[in-house]
Amino acid sequence: MPSAGETRWLEIAVESHPEAVEAVSEILDRVGYNGIAVDVPLDEGRPHLVKAYLAYDRSAPFKVRRVKEAVGRLRAFGLGPVGDVAVRRIADEDWLVSWKSQFTPIRIGPFFLRPSWSDARDEGIELVLDPGMAFGTGLHPTTRQCLEAVGEIELAGRTVLDVGTGSGILAVAAAKRGASRVVAVDTDPVALRAATENAQRNSVQLEVSEGSAGAVPGAFDAVLANLVADVLVAIAPDLRARVGAGGTLVCAGIVEEKAERVAAALADVGLRVVDRDQREDWVRLTLR
Ligand code: SAH
Repeated sequence: MPSAGETRWLEIAVESHPEAVEAVSEILDRVGYNGIAVDVPLDEGRPHLVKAYLAYDRSAPFKVRRVKEAVGRLRAFGLGPVGDVAVRRIADEDWLVSWKSQFTPIRIGPFFLRPSWSDARDEGIELVLDPGMAFGTGLHPTTRQCLEAVGEIELAGRTVLDVGTGSGILAVAAAKRGASRVVAVDTDPVALRAATENAQRNSVQLEVSEGSAGAVPGAFDAVLANLVADVLVAIAPDLRARVGAGGTLVCAGIVEEKAERVAAALADVGLRVVDRDQREDWVRLTLR
């Protein structure tokens, strides 16, 4: 047993198909200290990683067994592919401190992002976002590129649609820049929960709903779509339909090799590239 001052922790991680994330999260939530974290991959179709941390004490082996049994039942149930339960000891380290220290306050464009536990204050439009729940904590290059775009384009009094909202980061940022109406959609229910929570945390109104660009009626002054190239190509006509007259489409999550293909698919539906930004291998296109 660990002695006082050297609390040890166990990390329990389960890879799961997007469809099973909700169920796996529930199982891990029963044993996890301070809830669970879900790593959502950028590439669609890749498994999510659901993680929980628990104190390495006398009850830990029972908790691990409970998780293994429950996950085993889930597999028997056939609810999406669920991976093995991976248990790892985190020695001589307070995981909470190390986990939190990865998410330090940061300036991006006109925004100042901080996790809820940080009391750092700075100039700029404050966005309070905690990592873990869904993709989009402001740290991925594609998210940064989109946040910068949200900081640059005129949004005051304008309507905005955020397709693939994830944590809701871009939608919240758009609302904070004075957008009159912000609709946020995602195909992943985990994301919708996170976006709703983050809207509340930031005291902004978002219209959050499940689905993609095709499911939303009407047209918007700005459409944000930080997805992946193949999805952007597949839903190009739906994206087109959501961009109102004189409106702007911001697309990101595009690996360099596929940028031409995405631009061509959007040209086919009548949108023209007016700006291109590249960070590492990631391309952001702005179209009108
Ligand atoms: N907008 C956030 C998150 C981007 S990650 C950010 O910029 O950081 C991409 C998100 O798109 C994921 O939450 C994923 O669930 C969602 N997604 C994937 N395919 C989609 C589709 N066809 N329609 C809507 N959302 C989709």
